[in-house]
Parts: sequence; structure tokens; C-alpha cells
Amino acid sequence: MVPHPSLIAPKIKLDLIQPVETMGPYELCWCRSGKKYKWCHFRREQQKPVNIYELEAKMIAEFRDGYCSFPDPSADPCSAIITKAHTVQKKGGLAAIAEAGHVLTVKPSMKEMIETDGNPQPRKVGVNNASVFPGFCSRHDTTLFKPIEGKTLSLTKDIAFLFSYRAIAYERFAKEAQLRITYIQREADCGQPFWKQAMIQMQLAPVIAGIRIGMRDLDLWKGQFDQRLLSGARDDFHFVSVRFDQVLPVVACCAFHPEFDLHGKPLQQLGRDGVDFDHVTITVTTFQAQTIVVFGWIGSDDGPAKALAESFAAIEDERKADALIRLLFIHTDNLFLRPSWWVSLPPSERQVLNEMTRSGTIMRARSAGEMADDARSFSSAHVAEIVRG
Ligand SMILES: [Zn+2]
Ligand SMILES: [Zn+2]
Repeated sequence: MVPHPSLIAPKIKLDLIQPVETMGPYELCWCRSGKKYKWCHFRREQQKPVNIYELEAKMIAEFRDGYCSFPDPSADPCSAIITKAHTVQKKGGLAAIAEAGHVLTVKPSMKEMIETDGNPQPRKVGVNNASVFPGFCSRHDTTLFKPIEGKTLSLTKDIAFLFSYRAIAYERFAKEAQLRITYIQREADCGQPFWKQAMIQMQLAPVIAGIRIGMRDLDLWKGQFDQRLLSGARDDFHFVSVRFDQVLPVVACCAFHPEFDLHGKPLQQLGRDGVDFDHVTITVTTFQAQTIVVFGWIGSDDGPAKALAESFAAIEDERKADALIRLLFIHTDNLFLRPSWWVSLPPSERQVLNEMTRSGTIMRARSAGEMADDARSFSSAHVAEIVRG
């Protein structure tokens, strides 16, 4: 692979916010909410403090507020109901790792974040609510994804494309919801003294800037996938798929910027100016008692996405399940676990994986070391088949 331009591009200069104690009432507020000062931070220390749990309820309500992600509803109209679309199919996929109708999610609630001092553990969630997002109307959810919702599957390019399409649609939806949620978090400084308002807003500003950049990329990628969904063109869609000979204790669906391959080699560097970034989608699910992993992307057949997928394919078969589990814990919270597998892991291994879920946040920077093989073993399986296209 030719080194990605982001590896040598200059860093984006962060334009830090400057908190100001008083401003003209009709000036734009220093916190960059886009509101006039009078309607934003004016006398904020006297405003009613927000209850963090109420705030979270408000955020969850934001996420429930759905819409259909199908790109051309004028030609192919939506149905009235926005459904809870599964990113991993319920029958066969989630069901294959569920116990008593439950799986574990690694996505913490804010309450747990606070109560555990930022170290929450995976928690139970019912399969009806696992991996869902209100991102399609029931008609399009059914018709678009029918070929990947059945009992059996043959790994063609069209099938791989659908897995990737759903992953991109989910990530775009989730990123937008995250942006709305982070806007709400800006209210967490109501009733606080000025120094605390400044601190909270200065912490949130770079987070919001990062989400906006992520959103821009996801809009671009979703647009590329939409075009090919409608036209049927698949020439610059590529995939690498691995089928294991048994069920692994995890399922997942995600899309992200590949930053390191599975040997720890840098692929792209985020936060760089003037470069386009590559994406990769990963779906891990189960068909006929075998776990299937699909890496898919639109673009170069010799770029970061390909390098990540091939670094996975190159790992010796006995270590692939471990590499996959590590990769998923690092890159996605749309990840679900078989409960008895999780509790069977030694506490030290659980802790290692749990800490990986904070990767790429302000709590933990991404690193080459976390992606490379550390000889830890979480699960094992043999590889039945590798398909490329
Ligand atoms: Zn403000
Ligand atoms: Zn629709």
C-alpha cells in the first residue's frame, strides 16, 4: 500500500474557545452554541441546574427520534412507521449468542459511568433492543435487507455490499444522534459558577469539533453508498470476508476510519488537514452456526481499508478470533457479547477488553500497541473460508 497522505499531512489547528464573563446581549455567545449571549450564557450561574439523569433521558429521547435513511423515497416511498432496525439480524445473528433472550452491550449509560467512576462493565440488554436504531421505515428495512436476513447466505459482492450499507447507515445515524446529544450536554453547566461553565464548555468544544468532522466524513461515505445502492454499480466496492467453523461469542456492526492494522502498523492519522480519509465497515454475525466477518469499503483496492482487512486475513488461523475480538472492542460500541462467555473470562482479561472500549476517547488515545497481537486468548475457532471480492 502507498502510504496514506494523512501520515505526513499537517495537524488541524484547534481553534480553542475563549470563555468571557460578560458580553453584549446580542453578540454570539462565547460557547459557540450559535445562540445570542442573552439566550445562552447570560446569568447562567442563576439558571436552574440540570439533573444529570433527566439530561440523559432527554438524550435517549433524541436517539429515539428516527427517520428513514433510504436515499430516494420519491421513487420508492417510505411506509409510515419508523422501525427499530437491527444492525445485526435478530434471528440467527443475535439469537446465536443470546442466553435467555439477552446479550451484553458494552455501551454504558451515563448513570453507570458516574457510579463506577468511569469504569462501567458490559450490561444485559434484550435481543429486541440490541443493535437497533430507528434509521429506516419498516418497508425499507424489510425490502433492502431481506437478502441478509435469511437463514442461509452466500458471500457475493451484492451481499457484502448490503452489510456495509447497513453499517454506514447506522454509523451516520448514530453520529448525528451523538452530535445532538453533545449539544444537550452543553446545558450541564446551568447554575454553576463561571469558572466551571468555562471548564465544561472548553472540554465539550473539541469533542463537538471532532464529531462534526466525523459527521462530514459519514455524510460523504453514506452518499457514495447511496449512489451505488440505487445504481447497482459495485466496481469500486471491495470486501474481504472470513467464515469461522463455529459461533464466536460476539456480534457487531460498525464503520470507522482505520488507523492501525492488526500488526500495529499506522494506516491513517486522524485530525490532519486537507486529506480525504478512507473508511472500512465491519459486520460480524452468524449464519447456520458459523460466524461470518465481512470487511467492506468503497474506494481503493490498495488503501487503508484493504490493509486492515488483509492484516486480519494474514493472522494465523488460531489467533484470528482473538484479533477480531480485540479489533471490535477497540473500534465499536455496537458490539454484543454472549453473557456466559464474558463471565467466564478471567477478571484481568475482562479489564483489558473493557479498557479497550475507551480507545479513541479523551480517556485513552488510539495506539499501535493495542491493535497488535498481545498473545492474550479470549476465544478460539478455525477458519472455514476466506472470500475476497
Ligand atoms: Zn453560551
Ligand atoms: Zn423508508
